Amino acid sequence: MMHTQPPGLYEAALPEDWPQPEALGFGQILGPYLVHAQHCAESGWHAPSVSARAALPVPMASAGLQYGFSVFEGLKAYRDASDRIHLFRPRDHARRLQHSAQRLVMPEPTEELFMTLCQLAVQVHARYVPPHGRGSLYLRPTLYAEEDALGFRPASRHRLAVAVTPCSDPVLRHNRLWAETELIRAAPGGIGAAKTGGNYAAGIAGQQRARQKGYDDVIWLDALTHRELAEAGTMNVFVQIGNEVLTPPLDGTILPGITRDSVLRLLRTEGVPVSEHRISLDELAAAGMAGQLGTAFGVGTAARLTMIDEISDGSTAIRFRDTGLATRLYDKLKQVQEGATHALREWRVAV
Ligand code: PMP
Repeated sequence: MMHTQPPGLYEAALPEDWPQPEALGFGQILGPYLVHAQHCAESGWHAPSVSARAALPVPMASAGLQYGFSVFEGLKAYRDASDRIHLFRPRDHARRLQHSAQRLVMPEPTEELFMTLCQLAVQVHARYVPPHGRGSLYLRPTLYAEEDALGFRPASRHRLAVAVTPCSDPVLRHNRLWAETELIRAAPGGIGAAKTGGNYAAGIAGQQRARQKGYDDVIWLDALTHRELAEAGTMNVFVQIGNEVLTPPLDGTILPGITRDSVLRLLRTEGVPVSEHRISLDELAAAGMAGQLGTAFGVGTAARLTMIDEISDGSTAIRFRDTGLATRLYDKLKQVQEGATHALREWRVAV
């Protein structure tokens, strides 16, 4: 594999049994290093360091483990056609991490610290970034409380650490989703808009219930009426009704997805009418009966875009049509993310 980074002190070599990019999957192989910085209540942020991944234990009594004081991000680095590496919308991810940290009363990393750690994490794993068009390096910056003490209060020591995992370019999949009317992921006033472990802990039983019922994943509904769409598993959801594309508004219960924002921008650029609007199962069923229902899809960093063929709550099955819109968006988004077009180049930050 070609790489443009000069071999540096820390640049990780590839394992001998390195697979083809298409066989990497997601999250299976972790890069050997963590790039991290500590925050102390007395002295603020310390200088970044690079450590072997196994050398950074989390104290068992820490609020990170005990109370879920942990917030994270997920972003990708790609190679463009000239083999140069860039990060996709890293500053937007930095700002979302700041909001997540604020909600959990954790110290907010500066945008510059976030950028420095992400850049360094890619540089030391440059050989792990798959070739142009065939995958990406996924970065998982995580901010967690690491003070070794049990009291329930904001911690006095935290760490921001970036792990990386090389992954395949996701294929465009078709999913059937179980509309969960009993379990909820998030409620008004809660932490649904923060990217924090607690939301995934709240969600895993719903995912498993969906799979046990023969569906691919869960679609979360609002906590009050259990009738309005919230999120498609760990993706933001879009639905086409007539000529219009709808996605639920950011009401505090939904993660403000960076891909959601990218898709809204791409749709608006194409002149497709889009609206951030509540979408109820009953409205979808009625639109289906009237022949108005188009395509539906979920979007997120890991899978890019997944088509939704069907949503069912056990009594009503809502079936969507493939109008070609989702495939067009998938292709456009891939081009923009990989730097195969000059469009939206402000979203790509060179490493
Ligand atoms: N919702 C949830 C619950 C998620 O976990 C994710 C993945 N981060 C998303 C939406 C999509 O967000 P993004 O496009 O920023 O990856």
